[in-house]
Amino acid sequence: MSRTLVLASHNANKLVELRAVLEPLIPGIELVGYDGPEPVEDGLSFEANALLKARAAAAHTGLPALADDSGIAVEVLGGSPGIFSARWGGHARDDRANVKLLLEQLSDIAEEHRAAGFVCAAALVTPEGHEVCELGVWQGSLLTEAVGENGFGYDPIFMPEGERRSAAEMRPEEKNLVSHRTRAFTQLAPAIAELLGE
Ligand code: IMP
Repeated sequence: MSRTLVLASHNANKLVELRAVLEPLIPGIELVGYDGPEPVEDGLSFEANALLKARAAAAHTGLPALADDSGIAVEVLGGSPGIFSARWGGHARDDRANVKLLLEQLSDIAEEHRAAGFVCAAALVTPEGHEVCELGVWQGSLLTEAVGENGFGYDPIFMPEGERRSAAEMRPEEKNLVSHRTRAFTQLAPAIAELLGE
């Protein structure tokens, strides 16, 4: 059986990141990029959106497909921004606007009530319709101002549990060892290995 899977994302950085997670766990796996049509992400959960993307790529390529959907869930906001994380500050999908609005919304909230988690759903869908989805969470809390230059999105205001730095102060290799994406795809790895006949 072929060991090739397609990653349903137009983001080349994500391909590099996920190869680094999956290749040590599943020897011989070949993860290729995708430039086909992307579906409207109209699911109501991270899992639903990850599955939508993986289904579209599996149908278009005829290969088993992986996809993810992620965001940040803030406890005092009942889990928001959640699936709206990318466009919380407006439809422009502007990281700075997203961070600014979230900090304003939490401006009166004390440190002990600023719990938040990055969440990632990782989906595997085969052209035959076999579907598996796993959720990875990276717990932490929100800072009161942006700190650090690395990463993207909400990294500058997210302090992971057990850390004294923001996620944007961690080196990419450090973040990738513990992130929500790594957790979700590590949990999905046994299902991928089983599909590949291991
Ligand atoms: P997507 O799953 O790549 O569409 O990500 C959705 C949004 O969630 C991004 O635009 C970011 O705002 C946020 N997000 C997801 N993962 C991360 C992360 O690792 N760091 C910071 N922000 C993230």
